[in-house]
Amino acid sequence: MKPSLVSLLAALALPACAAPPAEQPVNIGFALQSGNAEVVCTRPVPGLNEPATLTDARLYIHDVVLLDDAGHATPVALTPSSWQRDGVVLLDFEDASGTCRGTAATNNAVVGTVPAGRYVGLGFVVGVPSPLNHTSANAEAAPLDLVAMGWSWQAGRKFIKIELDPEGGVVRAAGKPGATWHLHLGSTGCVGDPFKGEAVSCATPNRIAVRFPAFSADADHVVLDLATLFDGTDLGRDGGGALGCMSGPDDPDCPAVFRQLGLKPATTQPSAFRVAANKG
Ligand code: CA
Repeated sequence: MKPSLVSLLAALALPACAAPPAEQPVNIGFALQSGNAEVVCTRPVPGLNEPATLTDARLYIHDVVLLDDAGHATPVALTPSSWQRDGVVLLDFEDASGTCRGTAATNNAVVGTVPAGRYVGLGFVVGVPSPLNHTSANAEAAPLDLVAMGWSWQAGRKFIKIELDPEGGVVRAAGKPGATWHLHLGSTGCVGDPFKGEAVSCATPNRIAVRFPAFSADADHVVLDLATLFDGTDLGRDGGGALGCMSGPDDPDCPAVFRQLGLKPATTQPSAFRVAANKG
């Protein structure tokens, strides 16, 4: 007997009815280094052009994806915690010990799941997506509740906050010397008041797309390298504007770090981030 059209269609449809692939856990490690040395709060940061101690090192990332060998991106479903929610992760490399002034808790991993599969690369974006960015820290759950990561002058958040105290202080081209060289990255040129219910748009979002075509979450981790980030920056001097670089469009201290972050010239791979193999 010939198979009926209905049974043929049913047979063809069978694969589509198969159980969806299982999820696999993923844990993506991050490290703060200067060259090959780990950066900690309790001893001077090696490898900078000016001896300096760390006082803060935190950043937000979002849109974490794994890439297959064709370059297709699969979003990592984040496991909700005090460090990650709504697709946003806070990485925190300072533990309030030594010269650091933040919080005792630290976070150096993105934790979540992806559909089972073979992945060969990693992508993420540094920053907080709009409109989540333009909310009150006082009204948000962790990790968006940190006033210390607030960006009040543009109604948003600091995407990267790295602060260092050079041994001899910071000499300013204009004004009194300071103690701390601040790197505060965030969106600028923003208009609209979110606290009046207005939409906010920013002429210079300053979010950084990072993409590593070759990355194994099991064997590798991501390094943010301060020696590379501040290559071309004299941390003992400030050329004008805010003390260090607080993303001011006219701040003479921003172009050097923006270049290392891939922001100027725009949309280049940021050299300050790289892949490193896990030890042992
Ligand atoms: Ca400056």
